[in-house]
Amino acid sequence: MSTGRVKGKVAIVGAGDVGATTAYSLMSSGAVSEIALIDIDQEKVEGEAMDLSHGTGFVKPVDVYAGTYEDCWDADVVVITAGASQKPGESRLELLERNVSIFEDMVPKITERISPETVLLVVTNPVDVLSYVTWQVSDLPYERVIGSGTALDTARFKQVISEHCDVATKNVHAYVIGEHGDSEVPLWSSAHLAGIPFDEYCELTNRPHGQEVKDDIAEEVRGAAYEIIEKKGATYYAIGMATTDIIEGLIRDEDTIMTVSTLMQGQYGLEDLYLSLPCVVNRRGIRQVLELDLSEDEREAFIESANVLEDTIEELGL
Ligand code: NAD
Repeated sequence: MSTGRVKGKVAIVGAGDVGATTAYSLMSSGAVSEIALIDIDQEKVEGEAMDLSHGTGFVKPVDVYAGTYEDCWDADVVVITAGASQKPGESRLELLERNVSIFEDMVPKITERISPETVLLVVTNPVDVLSYVTWQVSDLPYERVIGSGTALDTARFKQVISEHCDVATKNVHAYVIGEHGDSEVPLWSSAHLAGIPFDEYCELTNRPHGQEVKDDIAEEVRGAAYEIIEKKGATYYAIGMATTDIIEGLIRDEDTIMTVSTLMQGQYGLEDLYLSLPCVVNRRGIRQVLELDLSEDEREAFIESANVLEDTIEELGL
């Protein structure tokens, strides 16, 4: 007889704000039975694990503890949120170079004896570049190396549209694709509520619509992280929840569609870089990358987003 106890192990490398919040959100979801936290800062990771484990009486059975890289080897999902933060006077490229070397050192430790079923989920920014680095260094099939990509931007996009239209976020279907960053592309051509395209829905319900409204919404979504960082120093709650959502999609074998960063293999003529598109995600990682019918403007913006990433990859000599 089944005990009904959920199985599933997640290792989170990087127990900073995003890693610890992801662990908290994951614990609350009841989706896994084991969460190992790993960080170079031993005191910090032990403190986070203790604090979280004291909450286990309030959720479904789950072990939360400070682990080591060995805990990654038999995990269902390894989430990577580890990274350096910007030093005063350091340029974006210098920070990126530092993060690339951290990944070149860290990823082989994660994958040294990794199970053939483990999926790596990269969250550290710039997430598209570091997902690409993780894929290259790990030598794993692309299906098993995913970046959280625009999962968060898509969530923000839906939330802002839902506020504008005054309906629940879950009734909004819309995607942000491309780079997780300034060149991200909100897809208006496929945005809809109850099957009704955005503009039409607004017209039916007497709400403002048209290009100016859409530009304002896109700007609000694009600028959200900057605004939060200005107000409170970092973002971690929504990314923790977005990461939990992706982990659930993987562990529960959901075949769910989400915008995550994946290897481009001919989509819109692009190759050999990581970018977000809607993907079908299940236990094996990426099952399928969906190539939507984009408007001409959206296609151009997506290619432009790819160019931004290609330039960075070239600058880094990857
Ligand atoms: P943080 O500084 O609070 O935490 C980073 C942690 O990584 C620290 O605890 C540090 O000790 C650890 N670390 C550094 N090098 C390590 C190594 N070699 N091995 C193990 N651990 C190591 O930062 P944070 O706020 O948690 O953010 C983490 C990352 O997530 C950042 O890159 C941030 O930009 C990114 N982020 C991504 C998204 C997204 O949508 N993809 C959203 C928010 C934040």
